[in-house]
Amino acid sequence: MTANPTGSARFLIVGPQGSGKGTQGVLVAEAFGVPQVATGDIFRANVSGGTELGKRVQAIIEAGDLVPDALTSELVRDRLAQPDAAAGFLLDGYPRNRGQVDDLAEFLGGRGEGLDAVIELEVPREESITRLHDRAVKQGRTDDTEEVIANRLAIYERETAPILDVYRAQDLVLAIDGVGTLDQVTQRIFDALASRGLIAQGSGGNGAAA
Ligand code: AMP
Repeated sequence: MTANPTGSARFLIVGPQGSGKGTQGVLVAEAFGVPQVATGDIFRANVSGGTELGKRVQAIIEAGDLVPDALTSELVRDRLAQPDAAAGFLLDGYPRNRGQVDDLAEFLGGRGEGLDAVIELEVPREESITRLHDRAVKQGRTDDTEEVIANRLAIYERETAPILDVYRAQDLVLAIDGVGTLDQVTQRIFDALASRGLIAQGSGGNGAAA
């Protein structure tokens, strides 16, 4: 099989908070040699750095609400215009609603590009909540309180899960069972990508080893 014939690796990873998408996203991005672009991380870095952007979004993030689309999409457009994202990227946490799906399609379409795969990490609600509580204890994130977690999961179910319908219609979605050990889930992701001819360079067919 020809490994990743087009050489492009433009991925999204989508899943509820606590699905492990951050951790898995980093592994996929590293294996394919593309940057992981996580909007939540970018916003949090701006909040802790006290930037203008950080000041604008801090209250929104602490409530677990969504930052306005125009602001978020502009941030992503700027990031994806950087040279290191020319051949690919892994987006984590964006797009998060229909408006952002359209913004991304317009931006990529303008460059003559499209997505190669959307990785959907499936984790039952109860499992997500347990993992988020664990993370709250370990990392002390200000948006990992009980009330804010409930708000973020509700927004996921209402606004983010439906975007998968758009990508399913384009046959881009790889549904992955997110319950299991970290390694098991990683392997499932690499196997699913490989089934679409998306194989990390130099990985000998096993992206997890890269
Ligand atoms: P995350 O780490 O992906 O859970 O993101 C943390 C917070 O950042 C979210 O609860 C939102 O307040 C904000 N955020 C991250 N990504 C987006 C996005 N694509 N659209 C709007 N807000 C976002």
